[in-house]
This record gives sequence, structure tokens and C-alpha cells, in this order.
Amino acid sequence: MSKTVGIVGAGASGLVAIKICLEEGLLPTAYERSSTIGGIWNYVEDTSPSSSGRMYKSLVSNVCKISLCYSDFPMSPNVPPYPNHEQYIQYIHDYTDHFKLREHIQLNTEVTKIEKAEDYDVTGRWTIHFRQDRKEPVKKTFDFIMICSGYFTNPVIPTYPGLDDFTGRVSHAAHYRRREHFEDKKVLVIGESLSSCDIATDVSFSAKQVYLSLRNGFWLLKKRGLGGYPLDCYVLNRFTISMAPQWLVKYVLGGYFHIDANHDALGIGPNRPIFRTPLGINDFLLGQLMNGRVKPTPTVKRFSPKGVELIDGTKLDNLDAVIFGTGYTVTTPFIDDNLVPGKVVNMAVARVIYSGGVKVANSDWLDVLSN
Ligand SMILES: Cc1cc2nc3c(=O)[nH]c(=O)nc-3n(C[C@H](O)[C@H](O)[C@H](O)COP(=O)(O)OP(=O)(O)OC[C@H]3O[C@@H](n4cnc5c(N)ncnc54)[C@H](O)[C@@H]3O)c2cc1C
Repeated sequence: MSKTVGIVGAGASGLVAIKICLEEGLLPTAYERSSTIGGIWNYVEDTSPSSSGRMYKSLVSNVCKISLCYSDFPMSPNVPPYPNHEQYIQYIHDYTDHFKLREHIQLNTEVTKIEKAEDYDVTGRWTIHFRQDRKEPVKKTFDFIMICSGYFTNPVIPTYPGLDDFTGRVSHAAHYRRREHFEDKKVLVIGESLSSCDIATDVSFSAKQVYLSLRNGFWLLKKRGLGGYPLDCYVLNRFTISMAPQWLVKYVLGGYFHIDANHDALGIGPNRPIFRTPLGINDFLLGQLMNGRVKPTPTVKRFSPKGVELIDGTKLDNLDAVIFGTGYTVTTPFIDDNLVPGKVVNMAVARVIYSGGVKVANSDWLDVLSN
């Protein structure tokens, strides 16, 4: 008889998990707590701190469609090289229909608990407790479980002296939706990775002034590579990731990105080599830095009711809003910490794939994702 697999979540990872299980002759059931598939790629207008949405209106993928798509399901030629979130969520639905995955998904079903089955010592099976449409939880036992519940779960806002007394708007990148919400405002974005660079750029087209507070600096990459081809065709390929010596890749790419944009002159100078410090991937940020709409600043020392003092003593007054692009912590509240093999704190995708306690992949190259 076929083995059964219980899957938590029907986002991009849960969907491919269903498909692979079917290909292997397994019987998957995915539990998805929201009313639709696709996870964080669903745009949600709600900006409140409890909102599950993570997309903003202008979001365009930071990798090209060749890297973004599932390897056995190319995106339509009508989709541009860098799809926006609406095109990507449509692609997710097309993928789901093409491989007939929907019948294996139970929507509006929240997994509340996963535990070892009573006969675990003999069978190795797991019991999933789930609640459908807010009814009483029920449980079902599976031969295997796959947790695909995402890692952008809990937005992190660091503590700063005086932050509680700041009278402007305080939010996290998770709840940024539209640049119009900040029209003519003075906005401080704190953070130096993908989301903070994107949001600082986006909001700068509407705000009066944007400050971007940096700790280590970052490498600024553009999506447009040599000859107008997507950059990741050059950067994210088998040769650069696994065949060429990594020192050579870093030397060549670091040199290329420095020639493309003088990071020190722009005030964003990364203090570590490429792929050892955060990346920003944005074609418009360079222009907004050069015309002063986005001003890089050092780290914040403390907040005042109307602004901030930076570690170099500079004061930024009359700030209307601060947006924290300061990352997330991963939580899996439905399973006992002791049952998760290793703390899921590292954001590098390949490092949070576990197989019976064994980390299946590890690559220096992926360090960038954990910054
Ligand atoms: C702003 C932003 C931009 C991004 N841009 C890109 C990009 O350009 N390119 C790229 O490759 N990646 C990007 N990513 C990374 C993105 O996380 C992945 O592309 C991918 O969507 C992750 O899918 P997932 O299925 O792992 O997680 P999610 O999309 O988070 O899906 C997890 C699912 O699990 C469900 N779930 C969670 N807990 C439970 C539970 N207890 N019971 C039932 N269901 C549950 C959730 O409702 C959700 O649907 C971006 C991420 C963010 C936040």
C-alpha cells in the first residue's frame, strides 16, 4: 500500500512537495490554513501588524523567470523576464492545475499540532492535528510529514532606546503595501538587505525624503546584466555556484559590481566581500541614491519623539515614519522544538531542509541569504 504524507502549507514549497510525492507513488495531503494556495505571493491589502500578507503592490521578483520557475514548468513567453507578484501567483495556480494538485489540498485547514504517533517506535509514523473551518481539531496519522509552512513568519523589530516614545508611524517591511501611503513624508528605512533596499527605493518615488540606515553596507546588484540579459543568468548558474572556484567568482563579480556602482562614493560601501554581506537587487536604487532621494545613514543610536540620533551623532528630525526591514524569525508552533532537528534560525533555504536530523545541503555561497 502507498505510504501517506502529511504536508503543512500549500505555498510554493508545499505545492512542489505534493507533486514530488505523487511522482514517487506516495499519497500526499496538504493542509493550508488560508483560503487559497500560493502562500506569501498572495497580495493582501491589510497593513496591520497581524496581517499575513508579505507582498507590496509594486513587487517584482528579484530573480528572473528562468530561476524563479519550477524546473519542469517554464513560465509562459508572455511573462516578462522579471515577473511581478500577480504574474507569479497566476503561474502558481497554472502549475497547480497542470499537475492536478488541488485535489490533494485542504484549504481553510490549520495544523495545530504534530506529534509522534502512538506506534512511532515501531512504525515511525506521525500524527497531525488540524482544525478545518475553525471547527474542533481532528487528527490523522501519516507515514511521513513535510513542513512547508514558510520562513517569513514573525517580523522582527529590534528594540531601541526611545522607540516607544516615537510619535511617527512605526511598521515592518512585512506590512508595507504602497508608496502612496507615505506621500510627501520623511521616512527612515532601517535595514540593508533585499526588502529594505526595494522598499526604500519604492517609497522614495512618493516620499519627500528617504533615509536608509545601514549597519554593514550592502552590495548593490541590478537585474539588468551585460547585454541586457538578466543578471542571474550570469550569477546563478551551475558554473558560478558549483564549478568555478569561489574565490574567483567573488573576485570577478565583486569587481564587476564595483565598476557598475562605486559603492563607497554612494555611501553604501559593504564592509565585507560579496556574498558575505547583504545584497540589494534593484535597478532604480542607484539613481535614487545619486539624486539624493535616498540618503544612506549610519545605524540608529536612539529615537526621540520626532526623530533619531545616529551613532555618529547626526540627528534626523521631523521623521514621519520608520520602516524596519530587519528580518523575520521562523516559528513552527505546531511542533515541539525537540522534534525539529536543529533550530530553524538560518534563512538559507538549503540549510532549513532536513532529513531525519541530517542537514542535506550546505554551501558557503548561500550565506548571503542568511544575512
Ligand atoms: C517580500 C518578499 C519577496 C520575495 N521575493 C522573492 C523573489 O523575488 N524570488 C524568490 O525566489 N523568492 C522570493 N521570496 C521568497 C519566498 O519566500 C519564496 O519565493 C516562496 O514563496 C516561499 O514559499 P513557501 O511555500 O516556503 O512559504 P510561504 O509562501 O510562506 O507558504 C507557507 C504556507 O504555509 C501555510 N501555513 C503556515 N502555517 C500553517 C499551519 N499551521 N497550518 C496550515 N498551513 C500553514 C501558510 O498559510 C502559507 O500558505 C520573497 C519573500 C518575500 C517575503
